[in-house]
Amino acid sequence: EARAKAEAMLERVGLPREAVDRYPSQFSGGQRQRIAVARALICEPRLVVCDEAVSALDLSTQAQVLNLLADLRDERGLSYLFIAHDISVVQFLAQRVVVLYRGQVMESGPVAAVTESPKHPFTQALVAASPVPRPAEQAERRNLRESMGVRTASSVSATPGGCPFRQRCPLATDLCAAERPALRTVGQSDVACHYA
Ligand code: SF4
Repeated sequence: EARAKAEAMLERVGLPREAVDRYPSQFSGGQRQRIAVARALICEPRLVVCDEAVSALDLSTQAQVLNLLADLRDERGLSYLFIAHDISVVQFLAQRVVVLYRGQVMESGPVAAVTESPKHPFTQALVAASPVPRPAEQAERRNLRESMGVRTASSVSATPGGCPFRQRCPLATDLCAAERPALRTVGQSDVACHYA
């Protein structure tokens, strides 16, 4: 029964049933990711935590695995907690997004509100750093990113107290060092910034 279930699940994620007898080295990276999806789903969970599930894959394989995840979600009524650093991947799959910096929530809300109209300087920098396949728009984003004046993560060290992003933030003031901003509602999002 277990073998029949495994074969059926392999088939569902786009692999042949005979793959059940192969060794890991006989699969490509994309196929191994499909197997990871099959392993996660075979116990019929309601919630799946996907931690950087597609970040190691090339773009075309990434698209195939994302489509598979979306189909399985709709077919089985699954929920995903999808952890990623790539905003375009998040936009494709998520309904709600929480933006973290050093483990703290900077902004959260419906994915369209957060990614199309980001209110927190860190979210704005993330969106501006996300590549798009249209050269003119990409150039615009690069200019915007440079004009924002956000410092790179490697140029600063963590300092306790205040806003966790203040060492990198071009808008930081004395208030940002003295007081950690609480999450408050701005439009459709919740934002942790004194000046959002
Ligand atoms: S609270 Fe201050 S340092 Fe933090 S993101 Fe807002 S402006 Fe920048």
